[in-house]
Amino acid sequence: MSAVALEPVGATTSTPLAGPVLRVDLSAVAANTAAIAARTDTDLMAVVKADGMGLGAVDVARTALAHGAGWLGVTTVAEALALRGAGIDVPVLSWLTPSGAGCVEAYVAAVLADVDVAVPTAAHLAALEQAATLVGRTARAHLHLDTGVARDGCEPQRWAALCTAARAGELRGALDVVGVMGHLPCSEDPDHPSNTTGRRRFRWGLGVATTAGLSPRHRHLAATAVVLSQPGAHHTLVRVGIGLLGVDPGDTLALTAPLTLTAPLVMVRQVRAGTPVGYGAAWSAPARTRLGLLPVGYADGLPRSASGRAEVMVRGRRCPVVGRIAMDQTVVDLGEAGEAVGHVEAGERVTVLGPGAQGEPTLAEWARWSGTITAEVLCGLGASARLHRVVVPAHPPTTSSRPATGGLRSVS
Ligand SMILES: *Cc1c(COP(=O)(O)O)cnc(C)c1O
Repeated sequence: MSAVALEPVGATTSTPLAGPVLRVDLSAVAANTAAIAARTDTDLMAVVKADGMGLGAVDVARTALAHGAGWLGVTTVAEALALRGAGIDVPVLSWLTPSGAGCVEAYVAAVLADVDVAVPTAAHLAALEQAATLVGRTARAHLHLDTGVARDGCEPQRWAALCTAARAGELRGALDVVGVMGHLPCSEDPDHPSNTTGRRRFRWGLGVATTAGLSPRHRHLAATAVVLSQPGAHHTLVRVGIGLLGVDPGDTLALTAPLTLTAPLVMVRQVRAGTPVGYGAAWSAPARTRLGLLPVGYADGLPRSASGRAEVMVRGRRCPVVGRIAMDQTVVDLGEAGEAVGHVEAGERVTVLGPGAQGEPTLAEWARWSGTITAEVLCGLGASARLHRVVVPAHPPTTSSRPATGGLRSVS
């Protein structure tokens, strides 16, 4: 992934910017972090798993830490070590390590790097204690209770035994159970009965932990949707991922999308009525029209399943994506010359998606067009090694160097 921090924007070389550009605006991440931090009295953990859902884990982490977050959360120990490698020294929690071969080694690395780990089973607990003993340190654990997802948390029937075993580990000096965590399955629907059950189970789990002699000071259940819709479930720490990236699953808070994907038209052609377009000839021009070709496709994270529904913005107007989105190419119906978008030539930069402020399609629309959630589209775009990435810092040195809307056109 090529990444360029623009200071100022116009100073970057123009060559790679002639192709598709994925612009990551960290000031949006900063604003979202501050807006979400204002909605809770608890500590805020910025979840930057999966490379910050594709936006860049270190960039998102640093920005979030500068605007209200005090913790970082990731899935794997390797992701946590990458943050440490970047010199970030705030508390970091990793919550998913396969037990069995490799687990002790992963935990040794975690303990040495001062990374907290979530512990869902007795096997994980034993591995963590072994790792702590090997390196002669006390490991920081967050016992993870399943609060209704039936995924990676401890089954309730094994919880008391896990708490008792963890307390024994504490008394041996190997472990410090600093936290207890849960995760809710239907957080996007605050009225779903599973939330009530999950919240109740979490409180029950905290009681069991206390009875076992543990005193976890960090108690966390809420991800973005819960933070924004279930204030009673914040406990002492909330874990927020997608919200930092501008998505409020419940639509209660105006957040800003940090991503903009633009691409130049490679060519523009005039076609006759009846001309079939793209693989499978899934669409044929109903009338004479002009087609524009964009050099992006599903290899760049544009979901193929959005074919036939998606739109892009050309010169301030929405134009439909026609035919099937291919691995590297997408065709857009520009209409007849003289119609809405007017005269368009190859090289014209098209907005595939953005925050929506100028009427361009948003991530949420792309998710709807492809029948998925925004996080999946984000991860797909972010994982593309081919999109040229431009990272705009959260605090541009002066307002004049701040990219105006469409500012990228001037450098392409
Ligand atoms: C991904 C994840 C989060 C963050 O969820 P968002 O909905 O993105 O805020 C929090 N906790 C756990 C355990 C997760 O896996």
